[in-house]
Amino acid sequence: MKTLLITVDAWRASHASFMPNSTASRTPALESLAERGAVFTQAVSHGPATPYAFPALLTSTYPLDFGGYERIREDRTLLSERLADAGYSCTGIHANPWLGERYGYARGYETYRDVGAFSSPTLDSAREFLIDRFGLDHPVYRAAQYLFRFGSAPLYRLRGGADEVSLARRALTDAPADSFVWVHLLDPHAPYAPPKRHREAVGVRLGRSSATQLTTRAQHSPDGLSERERESVHRLYDASVRHADERVGAILSAVGDDALVVVTADHGEALFEHGQVGHEPALYDELVHVPLLVRPPASELAGPLVVDTQVRHVDIAPTVLDYAGVDAPPSFRGQSLRPAIEGRAIPELPAVTEVASTRQTPGRIDESALQIGVRLPTHKLVSRGDELYGFDLRTDPGELAPVPNPEGADWRPLYRQLRERRDAIDFTGAVAAERDATVEERLRELGYLD
Ligand SMILES: [Zn+2]
Repeated sequence: MKTLLITVDAWRASHASFMPNSTASRTPALESLAERGAVFTQAVSHGPATPYAFPALLTSTYPLDFGGYERIREDRTLLSERLADAGYSCTGIHANPWLGERYGYARGYETYRDVGAFSSPTLDSAREFLIDRFGLDHPVYRAAQYLFRFGSAPLYRLRGGADEVSLARRALTDAPADSFVWVHLLDPHAPYAPPKRHREAVGVRLGRSSATQLTTRAQHSPDGLSERERESVHRLYDASVRHADERVGAILSAVGDDALVVVTADHGEALFEHGQVGHEPALYDELVHVPLLVRPPASELAGPLVVDTQVRHVDIAPTVLDYAGVDAPPSFRGQSLRPAIEGRAIPELPAVTEVASTRQTPGRIDESALQIGVRLPTHKLVSRGDELYGFDLRTDPGELAPVPNPEGADWRPLYRQLRERRDAIDFTGAVAAERDATVEERLRELGYLD
């Protein structure tokens, strides 16, 4: 069976127009896919940024299992490894430096492409040399960086390079009968700089700042923005989601009705709700409540469905294996969603969310910064240091009124789950990935490093 997994970076559940009661048509390509699939309205990512979210998506384990998320250890089985063992041909395509081979994600893939990396070895080594010689903040490096950035895209195209969409389309066209194609789209990740047609469609007004400048200011000093600038940031994000949907649509046109298609976000995006813009380590719903849409092969289709039972990212890999007829490895924590996609009930399980990094230590484990959340659609319990607080999502969906140490029967299953998780987390055996200056610079461009 052909399987296509599309992950969209930093895409909030509120900005998926296939969700019921959505008002704006931001994702029309996905709306039409949803007419032939199952929409999960309560899907939860286990972590609030790429490095904290992907371990669960691709290994069906919690982010801090197996020593944590600094690198996917060899004894932590990836979906791609399991499928490759079963004879599947696997292709992975992404442009996010957090997903590079050095972080352990490439195992099991016949082809693994980082299209965000510089395509020219000469340019790469020149860049490394300048960073080593002058440092990242030196004007010489900054000037060279500017030239690299604007010179590399046309160079890449000239040399026949391709982006995620064209690579994914080609992979899908060439894929053998048993194949798995995973493509990760970086839009709508900051800086929100979508093409003009999408900015015009939502009426973005920019004033003197460029889209990138405004987004960068919003990420670094959100309180310094005027009302009008905040509105522009909202619209730029909206336009970026539209651009992502357009790109998803181009990929979908290359996949047949006989394929399994799964579309989700790695995590959400904060837009001023709790002061921040972007996705710093926090466990609010704007960061962990994500869109999820599964379109089964046509022969398995039970009809369009909306599933309100809470499901989790750890459930995605077991679902793919279930359709592929491959047993899940013992390390997988999730449950297959296939019964729900076929219209049957599945148990609603609490979703664990967790992170142990600070804004200053992205992607690195900092035990003192551990935060654990346990979520049900109605309640959420969060521990952070010595603090413990809850949100009643029925009366406070925006999570603006934390209740310290909440009591009562509703909270008991969440307390139990939180205690179990806290006791199980073990940071011994963590392995860190080397991060060279080129990766650091790409992370800086995405707003991760100051
Ligand atoms: Zn991400």
